[in-house]
Amino acid sequence: MQPKLVRLSQYFLPALREAPAEAQIVSHQLMLRAGMIKQSAAGIYSWLPLGFRVLKKIEQVVREEQDRIGAVELLMPTIQSADLWHKSGRYDDYGKEMLRIKDRHDRDMLYGPTNEELITEIFRTGAKSYRDVPKLLYHIQWKFRDEVRPRFGVMRGREFYMKDAYSFDSSRENALDSYNKFFVAYLRTFARMGLKSIPMRAETGPIGGDNSHEFIILAETGESQVFCHRSYLERDGLDVMDDSSEARANAVQDWTSDYAATEDEHDAEAFAAIPETDRVSTRGIEIGHIFYFGTKYSEKLEANIIDETGATVPVHMGSYGVGVSRLMGAIIEASHDDKGIIWPAAIAPFQLGIVNVKPADTASSATAEQLIEAATNAGMEVLYDDRDQRAGVKFAEMELLGIPWRVVISPKALEAGSFEVTERKGGQTRHMALDDIVPFLCEQQ
Ligand code: ATP
Ligand code: MG
Repeated sequence: MQPKLVRLSQYFLPALREAPAEAQIVSHQLMLRAGMIKQSAAGIYSWLPLGFRVLKKIEQVVREEQDRIGAVELLMPTIQSADLWHKSGRYDDYGKEMLRIKDRHDRDMLYGPTNEELITEIFRTGAKSYRDVPKLLYHIQWKFRDEVRPRFGVMRGREFYMKDAYSFDSSRENALDSYNKFFVAYLRTFARMGLKSIPMRAETGPIGGDNSHEFIILAETGESQVFCHRSYLERDGLDVMDDSSEARANAVQDWTSDYAATEDEHDAEAFAAIPETDRVSTRGIEIGHIFYFGTKYSEKLEANIIDETGATVPVHMGSYGVGVSRLMGAIIEASHDDKGIIWPAAIAPFQLGIVNVKPADTASSATAEQLIEAATNAGMEVLYDDRDQRAGVKFAEMELLGIPWRVVISPKALEAGSFEVTERKGGQTRHMALDDIVPFLCEQQ
């Protein structure tokens, strides 16, 4: 849990007036300007206090939606032994993206790019029969992929934070229900972050398998070319019913009924059959990816269970990834203006920013403290600008940081008994008495 109140005079927030030249896309520029990250090597970042705070918020939304479908959290290490990867055959297949390390005894180790092998081994030793499935297991952990071209800040890092989940079932049919659970969980997760995610049929790549969807948000700065029906822009991921396997199957059916595909899977003819005004052809950012891959790993790693008939069968598996750190960039790409970031409520680092125009004025400071107390008691997180700075600088910075609500405390406002309350999104300002501010903000949430 992060502290409810942060005083800017005591915080570490190295905001920049200008975006550094190396940042090519707006989310990267804004994250640097807002003092959220600092590059330490190509594609490797330190998460400064504000960036770290938002990362934890995103992680928490992801976690809540995993828990909601009955997935169970654990934590696997970042460094793995190469042994299991030799068994699965991926040690040789994975290529240069895998960071290979030797320990002091000259044993092959690696920094995990993903965890299919390790989780399969964990499941294998802990589950014996059909009674032990379905099992949905996940962790949220740093990954390393030695990308050829790390770029766009946290969007394509080499070290990045990922939620990866794995499902274990006794049959293909059951495994597809697990797949559908994650499908719906992803729609909800991204919708809660204010994103319109579109599930698109995808290639399975080095993970392998025969059923796979990428969750994409549309953005000019995205790395892949995507094609879809306009209907996806009107859908709401929170509307989905998922309380039975039938409901889940229907939801997935519904969300895959219109055309949506990435470049690799694109069918130009099918796309051309859509009325022209409904065709969307643009670029997209992949924020999540789900796979059903059957017994690919369980056979090689001998993860078997005894089924209802007494037969020993390899377990059916799927894997499900969300780019937690990439999401931060994706959300900013989707939600900003020329003044800075506009955080959606669910992941804003603070709900309320208080600008004290004249901190040296005792009456102003006492009023600010009074408001802070009321707001934090009501459960809000507050960023309090108590620095000795020009008012203009403070206003601009609060906008850059994207805090949803801003209240200005000044001797003038105190005298009038009326305070400016400004919404970051849309920029509307209301005037109200001190005591009305917190009840008003509570109503808005
Ligand atoms: P991409 O096609 O973007 O290279 P991928 O298909 O290799 O991604 P997956 O193995 O499906 O990635 O990983 C799951 C999720 O992790 C992706 O949907 C993405 O959100 C995130 N991710 C993958 N690679 C990176 C990276 N280099 N930096 C940040 N996030 C990443
Ligand atoms: Mg992918």
